[in-house]
Amino acid sequence: MSEHVTSRDLTLEEKASLTSGRDFWSLEGLERLGVPSIMVTDGPHGLRKQRTGGDHVGLTDSVPATCFPPAVGLSAAFDPDLARRVGEALGLEAAIEDVAVLLGPGINIKRSPLCGRNFEYMSEDPIVSGEIGAGLVQGIQSRGVGSSLKHFAVNNQETERLRVSADVDPRPLREIYLRGFQRVVRDAQPWTVMCSYNRINGVYASEDPWLLTDVLRGEWGFEGVVVSDWGAVDDRVAGLPAGLDLEMPSSGGRTDAQLVAAVREGRLEESALDLAADRLLELIRRAQERPAQPGPLDVDAHHALAREVAGRAIVLLKNEDALLPLAPEARLAVIGEFARTPRYQGAGSSQITPTRLDVPLEEIRALSRGEVGFAPGFTTDGSGDVAALRAEAVELAGKAEVAVVFLGLPDAAESEGYDREHIDLPADQLALLDAVLEANPRTVVVLSNGSVVALPFADRVPAILEGWLLGQAGGGALADVLLGAVNPSGRLAETIPLRLEDTPAFGNFPGEHGHVRYGEGLLVGYRWYDAKDLAVRYPFGHGLSYTSFAYGEATAALTAAGDIAVTVPVTNTGDQAGREVVQLYTALPGSSVQRPPRELKAFASVELAPGETRPVELLVRREDLAHWDVRVERWIVEGGTYTLEIGASSRDLRAAASIEVEGDPVDLPITLSSTFEELLAHPVAGPALQAALDARYGDADSHLLTMIGNFPVDRLDGFPLPRAELEEIVAAAR
Ligand code: BGC
Repeated sequence: MSEHVTSRDLTLEEKASLTSGRDFWSLEGLERLGVPSIMVTDGPHGLRKQRTGGDHVGLTDSVPATCFPPAVGLSAAFDPDLARRVGEALGLEAAIEDVAVLLGPGINIKRSPLCGRNFEYMSEDPIVSGEIGAGLVQGIQSRGVGSSLKHFAVNNQETERLRVSADVDPRPLREIYLRGFQRVVRDAQPWTVMCSYNRINGVYASEDPWLLTDVLRGEWGFEGVVVSDWGAVDDRVAGLPAGLDLEMPSSGGRTDAQLVAAVREGRLEESALDLAADRLLELIRRAQERPAQPGPLDVDAHHALAREVAGRAIVLLKNEDALLPLAPEARLAVIGEFARTPRYQGAGSSQITPTRLDVPLEEIRALSRGEVGFAPGFTTDGSGDVAALRAEAVELAGKAEVAVVFLGLPDAAESEGYDREHIDLPADQLALLDAVLEANPRTVVVLSNGSVVALPFADRVPAILEGWLLGQAGGGALADVLLGAVNPSGRLAETIPLRLEDTPAFGNFPGEHGHVRYGEGLLVGYRWYDAKDLAVRYPFGHGLSYTSFAYGEATAALTAAGDIAVTVPVTNTGDQAGREVVQLYTALPGSSVQRPPRELKAFASVELAPGETRPVELLVRREDLAHWDVRVERWIVEGGTYTLEIGASSRDLRAAASIEVEGDPVDLPITLSSTFEELLAHPVAGPALQAALDARYGDADSHLLTMIGNFPVDRLDGFPLPRAELEEIVAAAR
């Protein structure tokens, strides 16, 4: 394709056609001008390239690709470098298949554990989502393949996802729901951003000029193409000037004709179409620059990476009396259908055909030197002779030294397209566990679930591994952790609550009659449980290790750029090597705006040999201290002494420091509608008002201002000062 093709070389019809899909997965090209058609395809944790070509819509017939841990697993590793390596591998697989843009990652906030698609998202926290998302995007794009950051924005549920209006206030919108997107755009500049299906405060994301142009491009500097989610376009004539460059999939020419007519009838500026067409040409040009990647794919190497990542994603929730790791010779009863039929990815558009699949039971047998018996214990669809299955499992457990029970959510329990109604594991699985525990208290539970489940048995079971969905090599990784070949280091990127009723969006999810109210405001995830001082099953950031770590004293200093550099020495106090994920939370006591008790602002991991100590460095960006000031509609860093809490989880804080931060100036115009308090806080009006009051009242009436401090100054004529005098003070302050 020539360097020089621009929208000027295209007819109106060609521009309209170039800015919509050719079919389900490919973009339009322009043969006349040598502009090729490129392919885009899912997805976030593995390539889903339909075997039968661009118009195929089915979900299951894709070419084999490595299934890495879905976002729920990847983010639990709390490791952006690891995400970058996964991105590189995804990019390579896409390049080999000649795919120009991979449709991921998805970084929407996990607002409620009920969202059916939580397995495709990273975290309840925007810094975690943003950091892991940026790592993935950087990795994918390092291979000359584009990514598509999705779903922009505030798409936090599946119920009515194509029409619902997410009604959210400006502060949570900015500080929670957009913050992660902002970070990925700034740090990684994705080639494309995919706008979401839903409306935000009444406006479709696909036709929101504020979202797609003012914020995304104007404030954040996005330079790529905005693509619609598949079917997210309600009105393309409204969407295009708002900043929607590309409609996917093809509308068969229907909306192209609408665009052409709108331009001809003067309802749409042709320059808006030119802009979108030029962005598409630039995207295609970039895609063409990638050198051919002949392959074949090194299936073994990518499978090994998938196993390494899965090993880092597994979270050791509990390990009483060091029941784990299992002794290699131990006689084991492996129980649960998921040990034989692993649940390793979620259903929907991200579902791929793996190149191979590790089975936990086989992998345990491969690593163990003891006898390993197996009983399915239940069926994933609840069918079969429940009593017989249970009896067989109980008998096996009774004869073993340790029972390892694989529990989890069946496929149908969570999926793209619908939300869950509860967070419980199937009742037959819970009953099975009770029966096994009675036969053998030395029982380890291994969980496979894409979104959080309640763990009513947590106090009765000595050891629990949260295995999330771990991709195609999860079986091997679970065996590695169970038998100690890998020391677990994953952390919870989302809180495990005690009950659904405790969760922040409860009562405001999934909304009704086309609206969902984000009533919890800023208090999303751990911010909620901490603010309400609620007990949780396992807190955000939690995850144990087979070794132990001690934290020394933290020190904090401001960098030249105004960021906060924190150093804390961490020591491995146990007897084996391990990785600690060090987390840093900030707070500003006495803040003038609502703030959660603590907010994650940085994290870092450190690998330590037994006895080793290393300083861990964490950097809090100044911009991450800012809150969205609704008065001036800007990010503002409030001045004051910030508390820095450093620890192993949001509720296991081991070190602290504090630091004085200078605030950003906030220029609030002083008018006669300003209050006396506002005048007093102003550098010019304040002293003038004080002097005038002192002159008139002395200190005879010090209580006066406490009482009328929140009165606009012009409200009481002549009191406490003559109007002319007040007008003069206000005028001088302007
Ligand atoms: C999903 C996107 C996906 C697209 C293409 C949509 O339904 O929301 O995440 O990339 O389909 O499969």
